[in-house]
Amino acid sequence: MTGTPYLKPAFTLPATVSSFIQGRFIPPEAPHQIAVVNPATELPISLLHEANAAEVDRAVNSARASFESGVWSRISTDKRQSCLLRVRDQILQHADELAYLECCNTGIPLSQLRRLHIPGAANHFQFYAELANQLKGELHQTRSNYQLLVSREPVGVAALISPWNGPVNMSCAKLAAALAFGNSCVLKPSEYTPLAFTRLMEIFREAGLPDGVVNMVNGRGPVTGSALVEHPQVDLVSFTGGSSSGPLVNASAARGLKRTTMELGGKSASIVLESANLELALDGALAGNFMTNGQQCLAGSRILVQRSVAREFKEKFIARARAIRIGDPLDPKTELGPLAYEAHMHKVMSYVDIAREDGATLLTGGQRAAHMARGWYVEPTVVQASSNLARICQEEVFGPFAALLEFDTLSEAMELANQSQFGLVAYLWSNDMAAVMHATRELRAGTVWVNTTLVGDPRAPFGGLKQSGTGREGGVGSVEFYTELKSVVIPNGVAPIPRLGVH
Ligand code: NAD
Repeated sequence: MTGTPYLKPAFTLPATVSSFIQGRFIPPEAPHQIAVVNPATELPISLLHEANAAEVDRAVNSARASFESGVWSRISTDKRQSCLLRVRDQILQHADELAYLECCNTGIPLSQLRRLHIPGAANHFQFYAELANQLKGELHQTRSNYQLLVSREPVGVAALISPWNGPVNMSCAKLAAALAFGNSCVLKPSEYTPLAFTRLMEIFREAGLPDGVVNMVNGRGPVTGSALVEHPQVDLVSFTGGSSSGPLVNASAARGLKRTTMELGGKSASIVLESANLELALDGALAGNFMTNGQQCLAGSRILVQRSVAREFKEKFIARARAIRIGDPLDPKTELGPLAYEAHMHKVMSYVDIAREDGATLLTGGQRAAHMARGWYVEPTVVQASSNLARICQEEVFGPFAALLEFDTLSEAMELANQSQFGLVAYLWSNDMAAVMHATRELRAGTVWVNTTLVGDPRAPFGGLKQSGTGREGGVGSVEFYTELKSVVIPNGVAPIPRLGVH
């Protein structure tokens, strides 16, 4: 326990969460309700009204009507930019409240939310507002009689589906990009973590976004989510979630010929070479495994260490993992809070036995945090894996759970890193330039971080290979995904056209 008392923020939690359609929260139509629970206390804190297919239909129709009306899709990018910058300002102005709501619902430490997630969410609006205002087309003049214009237009209605492990930040990346290029949206946050979105929707209204441009529906994936993906008036689906639900969503979207991005799971390698700055590698590997309570798609949860430095790295890593402060996520000193929901905690804990059965050695952790009377807290857990083919090295645990492995040569490290069904990110710790250049080419991952960790840059296209997904969002990835190309051909005078029927 962290001991010293601290001041809890005094914001009111919303009693209910319902759909936000045409600029207002609507009275729920469907009977199904889901308790919204605080993972630190295990107590219900709000009630989610699940949207059924009829409610989803209203939300999509609202988005479609706003898109067709041109109230957002056809206004100048200057006007859109001003509005999105007001959203950014409002997010920053209400950052304490957003961070509090998110903390109470996710268990992510308030300090991490306030310092990283919420400013990150605001930054997405700034970045995409500026990017959209720089959008350019093409003019081709290679045929003497014609001009060919290529322009980018909004796609239409975007279905944005997000997970529970960074709800506001990840949803804002999608919302900001979709909106900046003139699309209308329907957001479906995770049914576990809808709380902060009640405030975010108000922020859109307060910032002057026209009614119907952003809508939100809440509920379980196979109910609300699938109704949204299947809706014929949805043009694109941006999905962030697990590698088991992703293919189902992708198949459903494909039936309607909708474009998709699939940002799915990972089991990323963090490779520590003997040429690394070991302290830096330790900092990075610890942050990569235990920030956001270990619930990170991009966790470097397979730590591959060169044998010559493995013993020193392992001892220090275990000591630091044991010293991580577990506690109430509202406490500014807390470094590791509870896992997001009870079933997830049991899934994470089940990997202790799975690892043992596969021959791993438990080096630390493996228990619920004994000093926390309530809440789904799990100790930072580290195992020495027996093989890269063991389940603990091949499956995503999505909790504070790291597996260590040793290797001798760089080529062996590359082989181990790529021996995975996933390919989201990879981390490399080394000061050997030749090794770095070789490894960054060899690693089969959408992002490679060298001597750094968790650097989210909205300019960087982000996404994975293999079971980690398809498509990219971020920077040019978002330009391509959230816009439609149009070619316009115009003759420089009267162009000759074959004259059928004239003999
Ligand atoms: P999940 O797939 O269970 O749910 C994600 C979202 O999809 C939720 O809103 C859920 O309600 C919805 N959903 C689920 N099934 C659906 C269906 N059939 N149709 C439509 N919507 C459906 O994932 P989760 O447990 O919420 O999130 C954790 C997973 O997300 C992890 O695997 C993690 O690696 C991954 N993730 C990936 C990234 C990335 O950028 N690659 C980022 C964060 C999380």
